[in-house]
Amino acid sequence: MKLYNTMSRKVEELVTREKDVVRLYTCGPTVYHYAHIGNLRTYITEDVLEKSLKYLGYNVKRVMNITDVGHLTSDSDSGEDKMLKGAKREHKTVLEIADMYTEAFKNDCDKLNIRWPDVVSKATDNIDMYIKIISNLLNKGYAYKSGGNIYFDTSKLDDYYVLTNHKIDEMVVGVREGVEEDSNKKNQADFVLWFTKSKFQDQELKWDSPWGLGYPGWHIECSGIAIKNLGEYLDIHCGGVDNIFPHHTNEIAQSEAYLGHEWCKFWLHGEHLNDKSGKMSKSKGEFLTVSLLESKGYNPLAYRYMCLKSYYHNVLTFDYAILDGCQNEYDKLKNRCLNLSNNGDLDRKKFDYYNNKFKEYISDDLNMAMSISLLYDILKDNSVNDKTKRELISSFDKVLSLDLLKEKETVIDNELVSYIDMMIEKRNKYKEEKNYVEADKVRNELLDKGIIIKDTREGTIYEIKR
Ligand code: AMP
Ligand code: ZN
Repeated sequence: MKLYNTMSRKVEELVTREKDVVRLYTCGPTVYHYAHIGNLRTYITEDVLEKSLKYLGYNVKRVMNITDVGHLTSDSDSGEDKMLKGAKREHKTVLEIADMYTEAFKNDCDKLNIRWPDVVSKATDNIDMYIKIISNLLNKGYAYKSGGNIYFDTSKLDDYYVLTNHKIDEMVVGVREGVEEDSNKKNQADFVLWFTKSKFQDQELKWDSPWGLGYPGWHIECSGIAIKNLGEYLDIHCGGVDNIFPHHTNEIAQSEAYLGHEWCKFWLHGEHLNDKSGKMSKSKGEFLTVSLLESKGYNPLAYRYMCLKSYYHNVLTFDYAILDGCQNEYDKLKNRCLNLSNNGDLDRKKFDYYNNKFKEYISDDLNMAMSISLLYDILKDNSVNDKTKRELISSFDKVLSLDLLKEKETVIDNELVSYIDMMIEKRNKYKEEKNYVEADKVRNELLDKGIIIKDTREGTIYEIKR
């Protein structure tokens, strides 16, 4: 498996510490709002990585965090607390916001066929681990207390900027711009491990620590959760490119200072999805979510298809015209797959030939665009019988996860059930009021959605047209 390694800045062969085992850590969402489809591009890349590794025979142990405390609007510990901001915006508690958006994120992942990692851990569930690491860093002199907070002392490292191509000047400017200086820091690049002197007096979540009541910084969460669940060595660490600095740079600093050795050799970063104005935003312009795409009639899997067609290491600019094209192609591709018969016997030679090609492409730094063209080659190839084509597509779909052979079905989810119940209740009320015109309107509205209602002695029942 060859992948682009941010650390070495080249595509190189993945070497794992334990044969055929990949310990994979992927940074999870900060659950203060819905994920935008840019965030979800990164999770699609990570999903494809996990599934490709499994396809190639690796046993993948994957862990992801859910950030529900400590992440400020600037990744370098300044600005507002994202969770608190979300809670205020919606007049809810931080924990309510966290639960609500974790659930929403899970739904988005389901819709995009992103597999939920085996271990998903909330930042607030691992406070003891952060305290353990921070105490150790203080003992070893890598951390200091100042103004009530605990900071990591970046001057203690030979190469704090190891992941960032040593563009120190750029990084420093990046941090300075628009961000107020924290006068408690000894060095400008130092970062908070534990906050006690919060400028957020209304901070809801605080824990007891040897340094007083407080809460962890954002970066320590990922180190703590990764080390707790995957041990002292990682094989691959992932995130979006914005995570390279300062988040992953800080993760490396504190993890290696704590462990006393190199932590992770392979760093894979997904490039961003931008909108036409540049950076994708949750507050400005159109907030592009999976639900928004659905409300406009797009299948979320057409968006997955769009992401797969672009190389994860290239910036992708979102455009409805491109998505229209992808939706069209995806529908046609799926139709062609579904129209394949089950005739013939599996042609093992042909299967192996194409399957090896597929493995070659996914091993080539996740070349999903070539894997998709391969699908078209197979569909066109008259020397391959339908049965073999079906088997190949079904096999590739373990990685692509485009439901290419899945017949359309009406999924009766909880949301739909509550909607139908609400409509039936509304109609019954109109009937009681003998307002049959309105009652029929409700019935027709449901009918338009393929839901047939019938009045029986036991009450109103419904049936969903398939
Ligand atoms: P956050 O919830 O802000 O912590 O971000 C969740 C994930 O989305 C992180 O891995 C980010 O690197 C990634 N991310 C943020 N913005 C984008 C974007 N526009 N395109 C792709 N990934 C992004
Ligand atoms: Zn992280």
